[in-house]
Amino acid sequence: MSSATALNDFGKYHVTNGLGRISEGVMTKGTGSYVEYMDGKKMLDFTCGIGVTNLGHCHPKVSKAAADQCMNLVHGQCSIAFHEPYLRLIEKLIPVMPHLSLDSFFFWNSGSEAVEGAMKMARVITGRQNIISMQGAYHGRTFGAMAVTKSKTIYSDGVAPLMPGVFSIPYPFWHQHNLPPSTSPQILTDQSLYQLHLLLSQQTSPKDTAAIIVEPVLGEGGYVPAPKEFLQGLRKVCDEHGILLIVDEVQSGFGRTGQWFFIEESEVMPDVLLMAKGLANGFPLSGVVSRKELTDKLAPGSMGGTYAGNAVSCAAACAVADAFQEENVLANAQARSRELFAALNALKDDQTIAPYIQDIRGRGLMVAMEFSSSQGPGAGFDATAPKGITVKKGMASRVAKKCIEKGMLLLTTSVYEVVRFIPPLNISQVDMKKGCEIFEESVREVVR
Ligand code: PMP
Repeated sequence: MSSATALNDFGKYHVTNGLGRISEGVMTKGTGSYVEYMDGKKMLDFTCGIGVTNLGHCHPKVSKAAADQCMNLVHGQCSIAFHEPYLRLIEKLIPVMPHLSLDSFFFWNSGSEAVEGAMKMARVITGRQNIISMQGAYHGRTFGAMAVTKSKTIYSDGVAPLMPGVFSIPYPFWHQHNLPPSTSPQILTDQSLYQLHLLLSQQTSPKDTAAIIVEPVLGEGGYVPAPKEFLQGLRKVCDEHGILLIVDEVQSGFGRTGQWFFIEESEVMPDVLLMAKGLANGFPLSGVVSRKELTDKLAPGSMGGTYAGNAVSCAAACAVADAFQEENVLANAQARSRELFAALNALKDDQTIAPYIQDIRGRGLMVAMEFSSSQGPGAGFDATAPKGITVKKGMASRVAKKCIEKGMLLLTTSVYEVVRFIPPLNISQVDMKKGCEIFEESVREVVR
């Protein structure tokens, strides 16, 4: 089987139908902001493998660190003994934690596992059962993580019953309150916190509530940064009732929003901070970070996993942390973010395009454009609101498809008409400009 088409067809037959793909073909190589396919196609990657390769594909320092580690120790199982990269990584992470109190670390493989670990910890530490999550949230595909995921039914269709004891409130996102996009952050915050207040008095009493889990930037639910007042409000409720605040920065963390962690903006202290994706730039690794005073309540042996905190992944993550400092990655992300927002806003200023654009939002290089609903260009906020919602894959998927045809990988997100931009944080000015041009051409062609 030599041809690219034959291999692709082989995959289509033998790889489970449960896996979806946004592009045809077989990937063979990744360098910086580009990936190559077996048929010679080269694509500008504005997906970063869903927010993972933040330093671009095969960053030389990261790949070298992993290769070197492969020659020393591949699997130093964490329940057998500490291994050096695990501890070196903690040394590097402590100074960039959003709060000094976050001093107790556990590494796992995936974001979903980190979510599972955090929820188990919260139940054990508080002696309570219930967990509150946000409507629109995505926390992963394992059973517990799926139970707190509320972004799309596709993830759990037909697999219920899920983990019991899960409740949810609306995120401070205008769609979820059936309000216009121009609604002030304070009103959205008040609406969501009011729902939390009702929930805690009507459905799950604080004494039965172990944790609130929140993405500070709603990811798969539409790329919505939470107002800082909302995050502060959650912290206050948690403090009042001894509920743990689990902050899921699996997608928004590690520089994605132009700062190490988005939660820094609100100065809110998480009880548990979750990270993954960009942490090891493509090597499987996630982190559950908490306070020693809390994790000391866990019995030795109650946390673990065969591959948890793999030595090669930890060595790669050490190199990622070094590269962030040495290569001014955050400053680059902020500069490219300004260019991206400027290009998207310029497109919105064009009167022929404006009616098709509902909203532009995000932070750093976690940015979204939401198109007007499929009910018609220029339709008001009520056309895309949950009441009478017409969830058709319309503009967003057509634009993303056009971008792919033109050589740029772009993802959609959420049940609304949203495309998301998550290019590498170290993308060059030239490649950012190129990506914005491809996007603009694609929008114009779809609108025409
Ligand atoms: N939490 C968030 C916020 C995520 O975005 C994701 C993945 N998209 C997960 C958890 C799950 O991570 P993983 O796919 O590594 O299990």
